[in-house]
Amino acid sequence: MPVAASLKRRHRNKRLVYKDVKRKPASNRGMVKALYGERPAMNRFKEVNGAPKRTTTSVMRKCGIAYKPQGSWRRSRHSSQTPRATPGTGRRAAGIGTESRKGKVREMRTAETILGLIRERGKRGLPLERVYKLLYSRDLYLMAYGKIYRNKGAMTHGVTDETPDGMSLAKIDALIEALRYERFEWLPARRTYLPKKNGKKRPLGMPVWTDKLVQEVIRLILEAYYEPQFSDRSHGFRPERGCHTALKEIHYKWKGTVWFIEGDIAKCFDNLDHELLLNKLKEDIHDTRFIELMRDLFDAGYMEDWTYNETLSGVPQGGIVSPILSNILLDKLDKFVENTLIPQYTRGATKKRNPEYTKLWNASKLQRQKGNTEEAERLRNAFQKLPSKVTSDPDYRRLNYVRYADDFLCGFIGPKEEAEAIKQQLKTFLQDELKLELSEEKTLITHARSEAARFLGYELIRLHDDCQRTKRADTQTMCRNINTQIGLLVPKDVIEAKSQRYLGQERKAKHRSELLEYEDYSIVLAYQLEYRGIANYYQLAHNMYHLNRLKWVMETSLAKTLAHKHKVSVSKVYEKHAAKLKVQGREYKVLQASVPREGKPPLVATWGGIPLKRNMGAVLEERTTRLWNNRTELVLRLLADFCELCGSEEDVEVHHIHAMRKLHEYPGRPKPEWVQRMIALRRKTLVLCKRCHMAIEHGLPITWTLITLNEVKAQRSAKLKTILESRMR
Ligand SMILES: [Zn+2]
Repeated sequence: MPVAASLKRRHRNKRLVYKDVKRKPASNRGMVKALYGERPAMNRFKEVNGAPKRTTTSVMRKCGIAYKPQGSWRRSRHSSQTPRATPGTGRRAAGIGTESRKGKVREMRTAETILGLIRERGKRGLPLERVYKLLYSRDLYLMAYGKIYRNKGAMTHGVTDETPDGMSLAKIDALIEALRYERFEWLPARRTYLPKKNGKKRPLGMPVWTDKLVQEVIRLILEAYYEPQFSDRSHGFRPERGCHTALKEIHYKWKGTVWFIEGDIAKCFDNLDHELLLNKLKEDIHDTRFIELMRDLFDAGYMEDWTYNETLSGVPQGGIVSPILSNILLDKLDKFVENTLIPQYTRGATKKRNPEYTKLWNASKLQRQKGNTEEAERLRNAFQKLPSKVTSDPDYRRLNYVRYADDFLCGFIGPKEEAEAIKQQLKTFLQDELKLELSEEKTLITHARSEAARFLGYELIRLHDDCQRTKRADTQTMCRNINTQIGLLVPKDVIEAKSQRYLGQERKAKHRSELLEYEDYSIVLAYQLEYRGIANYYQLAHNMYHLNRLKWVMETSLAKTLAHKHKVSVSKVYEKHAAKLKVQGREYKVLQASVPREGKPPLVATWGGIPLKRNMGAVLEERTTRLWNNRTELVLRLLADFCELCGSEEDVEVHHIHAMRKLHEYPGRPKPEWVQRMIALRRKTLVLCKRCHMAIEHGLPITWTLITLNEVKAQRSAKLKTILESRMR
């Protein structure tokens, strides 16, 4: 009872009250909007009698933040009530909020306030306390919900069949109750096995929806705390950062780099050490219950939640908490480089001037003063072929470093032996401190001037062109500005590999048979999305126009696919679909396909119309490169989330067989429907509901009604369209 009494008292004195007159029914989107979205923030909180926002103080307390000198809010048990405060009921509602007798006034701490205070604490490098209690805040769940419900795969269920569909306040409250009494348990991530090229299978974790929600809340808290502490040199999985910020930093700030050290940590994300990570968390977060929750999370297998889809940067994408956790651990590497290696390998303010260059420069100046313009010009041409600074100044060293997820790159100005030493130091540090292996053969040291280094799917090379001159902003003199700059290029082999998928025999573009069953609109859209993904990703490249080759191959393949589908010639396809589109003042020849809609303008998908112009202001999005290969096709079918036999949407999973041959050799007679269907679909996989799958596995007869093959195709096409459109944004 004393607990309840103190809670009651505490709550009674809250000056910030939340007016929640009618609680919305459990419809999810409406609820989020009503509670969170559109109402302006000011309306949500009423400041009673103009008192300072006391909630802040209470949040500070909860976060373990030393609070301001105590005001009147913390009263003794015997003090009198503030006359205006609503009397408490002593009843404590679920969640952090408490309800008054009328059930109308609810105290609520905004998620932003909580996170803001954690951020403040992170900035000052102070440890966090009482973090577990933050997990009782309903507001954080609503924020988390708003962040993840749109995510790809959010609607795909995990071990249980709950999806965000059934999301409600009651559910959040139940979750909070479970956490409060430590009844909450992480369910092991559902493992769906996707076949790999080499015949092996790769697990793909699909956490349950409530677990995703709790994970997102944890992620929000960790991000708020660690984000201000992370190094500026780390760019992966961080807000407002990405491949583009990493690459731009190299382009603008790494002038004169002599050696690149390409860091490659062998299987970094599979090998992240849980104990090290927990120890790091323990250092910063003084809350045993929270740490135990994290330990359980690791045990449930959520740290292995990385998807190794092929992305343009070559960096795998994690689940919800794994990216930030990997950053927390690898931050130690950043700090090691920053605090140990960089100071060790920084020497001299500027490079020495080249005496040879200076001599000729002075001579040229003298000749010009004497009026011997011709001689002066000859000397000028001579010195401009020389570097103006000493290239290997023994008193000058610089070391640069960037990291994106497990991929890091160092740029070094100095001799090769020292570059080797740096690599060795990195290797030792990773081994001793992080228990990670620096892959010896993949960690290359490349000479920037003569070889290209690879980073995030780009080729990096030190540019050199004595003839190209630009005006210096400060002195207005013409100089060889481009020299020593780091150029970003689309690698030839990337263009080659991307084109390869559209090429058949004798390197001629071919149609894509797996797309034939879809509508024209979806086919055009699929090609465009794939091409646009690549074009967007390489917007920082100096040689972006090289993508023209890929565009041509893809366009031919697209035309052939459409021709094949309608059994007409390619020129007929162009006749039907060709159009002109004006983009940035330039006219482009494009292909278009549309779907008429009733009472609305038709949906139009366009192929082409993307200018291949370098754009250093671009924000690169990390995308998977291919929508179309057997694996992603299976992912799409899985995402379509219905049984390809009976149409049910319950507990959908994938049925695999080892070889098509097995189907034809099927011993029973006649061949059951599922065998016929797999033969008709020409696939070694069939997406099935649990009921059908069980029946097939155990050879039981299927007595329920099945849908036809055409219905499967129609349903799949419709689902695909929505998936593609959701990727369009
Ligand atoms: Zn079924």
